[in-house]
Amino acid sequence: MTPPPEAKSPLPDIKIPVDLLPSDGRFGCGPSKVRPEAVAALAAEAGDYLGTSHRQGTVKFMVARLRNSIAEMFALPDGYEVLLGNGGTTVFWDAATFGLIERRSQHLHFGEFSSKFAKAAQDAPFLDDPEVIKSETGTHPEAVANPDIDLYALTHNETSTGVAMQIRRPEGAEGLVAVDATSAAGGLRFDAAETDIYYFAPQKCLASDGGLWLATVSPAAIERIARIKASGRWIPASIDLSTAVEQSRLDQTYNTPALATVFLAVQQIEWINHNGGLEFAASRCDRSADNIYSWAEASDYATPYVADPAERSHVVATIDLDDRIDATAVSKILRANGIVDTDAYRKLGRNQLRVALFPAIDPDDVAALTRCVDHVVSALS
Ligand SMILES: *Cc1c(COP(=O)(O)O)cnc(C)c1O
Repeated sequence: MTPPPEAKSPLPDIKIPVDLLPSDGRFGCGPSKVRPEAVAALAAEAGDYLGTSHRQGTVKFMVARLRNSIAEMFALPDGYEVLLGNGGTTVFWDAATFGLIERRSQHLHFGEFSSKFAKAAQDAPFLDDPEVIKSETGTHPEAVANPDIDLYALTHNETSTGVAMQIRRPEGAEGLVAVDATSAAGGLRFDAAETDIYYFAPQKCLASDGGLWLATVSPAAIERIARIKASGRWIPASIDLSTAVEQSRLDQTYNTPALATVFLAVQQIEWINHNGGLEFAASRCDRSADNIYSWAEASDYATPYVADPAERSHVVATIDLDDRIDATAVSKILRANGIVDTDAYRKLGRNQLRVALFPAIDPDDVAALTRCVDHVVSALS
């Protein structure tokens, strides 16, 4: 009997020895590993928390814990506030397009995610065309002060390519600095005073689930939100940032949030804060990064994709494999052994593994992953 076409080149059945396997096989860049302790805490409190009104004290207290623990983790300067709303980062781009860009924004474009806010601004009929500064994928461009620009859009960590950048106000710039920190927040060091809006979602370093956006905002950003609202610009109600400011100050959201997502994010941030704060989390990510990049540097078939070590992300590693090894096959074999989501970012189109190094992921598990990859590659060749 001839096999069906899709079985033409079946994956070899490679069993990774149990003693090589990581203790947890989740290496995806989002949704990413949720610590089992956080899930257990949710289960323990579920009866009093899940399924209760988000307008009552129990949930409002949890939202307050979320806002306070973020302020503590980032050591927010006086006057900075923590906002939240529904829809994740993608919806925040729309909220920012309506509520934060006065006339013209500048965007650093160095991968799939950083291009998306630029596109939203480009498409908005009430804004001037944005200035977009692009660099080769695998690198990042620098923002350049321009008197025409009222908002600079940076990305702390470009999740599609594994490039991270230092967050600094462009020299001489007067506009607001807005940073997409979706995959960086809680894993990479930064100085909040260098930002006006540092926004993210909780399914990456915060080891929770998706669907929520979070943003730390400076007094200047709050003033901008109020001024644009007062100008009479039409803003859809669900993404009106002036409403988000009002509601967040009451530890609420405009419409119903996912209560489990809020709870799990609090678990992760309080875990980070109890262990020493952002420095603890960033150091864990540094160890994971060292484990994977040193392995790739020493390997005769793997290479860090990002050439400049200073631009290599410590929260998302991208590792090119030699053309003689099919990275997709490696990822699939890892998956069959319980090690999931090491696939390259689809649109990047490289023969690559992409591995999350978020704080919830044990650096020893990243080291174990490299040994599993070695095992699979040697079994394949
Ligand atoms: C994951 C990610 C996003 C998208 O986040 P959603 O919550 O799914 O909208 C945006 N930017 C960066 C840098 C990301 O890593």
